[in-house]
Amino acid sequence: MQTIDNFNFAGKKAFVRVDFNVPVDENFNITDDTRIRAALPTLKKILADGGSLIIASHMGRPKKNPDPKYSLKHILPHVSELLGINVQFAEDCQKAQAQIAALKPGEALLLENLRFYAEEEGKPRGLAEDASDEEKKAAKKAIKESQKEFTKVLASYADCYVNDAFGTAHRAHASTALIADYFDTDHKMFGYLMDKEVKAVDKVMNDIQRPFTAIMGGSKVSTKIEIIENLLTKVDNLILAGGMTYTFMKALGGQIGKSICEDDKLDLALDILKKAKEKGVNLVLATDSKVADAFSNDANTQIVPSNAIPDGWEGMDIGPASEKAFAKTIEGSKTILWNGPTGVFEFDNFTSGSRTVGEAIVKATQDGAFSLVGGGDSVACVNKFGLASGVSYVSTGGGALLEAIEGKVLPGIAAIKG
Ligand code: AMP
Repeated sequence: MQTIDNFNFAGKKAFVRVDFNVPVDENFNITDDTRIRAALPTLKKILADGGSLIIASHMGRPKKNPDPKYSLKHILPHVSELLGINVQFAEDCQKAQAQIAALKPGEALLLENLRFYAEEEGKPRGLAEDASDEEKKAAKKAIKESQKEFTKVLASYADCYVNDAFGTAHRAHASTALIADYFDTDHKMFGYLMDKEVKAVDKVMNDIQRPFTAIMGGSKVSTKIEIIENLLTKVDNLILAGGMTYTFMKALGGQIGKSICEDDKLDLALDILKKAKEKGVNLVLATDSKVADAFSNDANTQIVPSNAIPDGWEGMDIGPASEKAFAKTIEGSKTILWNGPTGVFEFDNFTSGSRTVGEAIVKATQDGAFSLVGGGDSVACVNKFGLASGVSYVSTGGGALLEAIEGKVLPGIAAIKG
């Protein structure tokens, strides 16, 4: 497989798919530029080699072309500033031929939001709500055809293809996967960010140092079931926390007050417990909970057993005994994966469990463990507690990371790895 370090971009035009889907405020000021900064090492390496950059990204979910609210023009000045050069802009990602032909080594051009074209995602747009199945089928076929042409145009711009957009690696879109077919194996590669993400996932999925502990939190078991099932085949310890605790407690015959619970998932919870036993996985649940009499930061609280929550009270975080038990398991681990808070961490009075988990992960990492934190809220957690620099890797890819942990092959990765 080709690598960005081994490739000399001198005199080459590189199509680089990045994830510049950054949040902007109502005046189009970027409120968090983490994603842009994450792609800089790749972009700078290509420029330093004497290559020219064709930078491609999506932003938001535009429904038409153009859709000014989602224009990448708004972020152009910031991209220029971070790269230290005047980045050019192509208003139409399909009509950039002349601008690209004029690009000199060391120059860069940002293409307008690829998703202005429905072909990027390959999903039909503007179908009437009452469209028949026939019509839907025909529209799908038509967009798949025009997607080929769209992809071909993008590929024609460049001598080589670099994918540095882990955040969209789980999508088989034109610029994230299909375009790779137009480049020889030695002319397509991961960027630095993508490479780091792929290696981090590999360490928790394949190249595992034991014991391996996964901590899954969040609100519901239903959204995590595929991950839990896959993890049961990999981990030594599986800590299940957050709102899903109470579905398990109820399934086991406990009293959970008004805690969040998925009543249609009680059998599933019992099945997970059974499978864990069969596979010899140490499944750890919170034995005590910090409960509140309202879903509010200022509610009254008490610590009770997780399976004996009084009526009118709800589990908002794990209790101190669980914190201690979780930390002990985590600190004795050599590979750690954390997805999802142990409680309603958005309220300051219910952050203790998540903070303890984060701190235990940092401690284990100092002792030589590999730790990966990823998937939306757990990233917010480690940032909130200032612990991000103490873990081995914080993933930038929400959905992509979760699908990778589910054991799925990500199209953006497969397109390059083969
Ligand atoms: P998820 O998106 O499934 O990872 O869930 C994250 C959300 O789960 C956060 O917004 C937390 O506030 C929420 N959460 C965690 N524990 C609980 C709980 N015990 N009750 C209700 N919500 C919870």
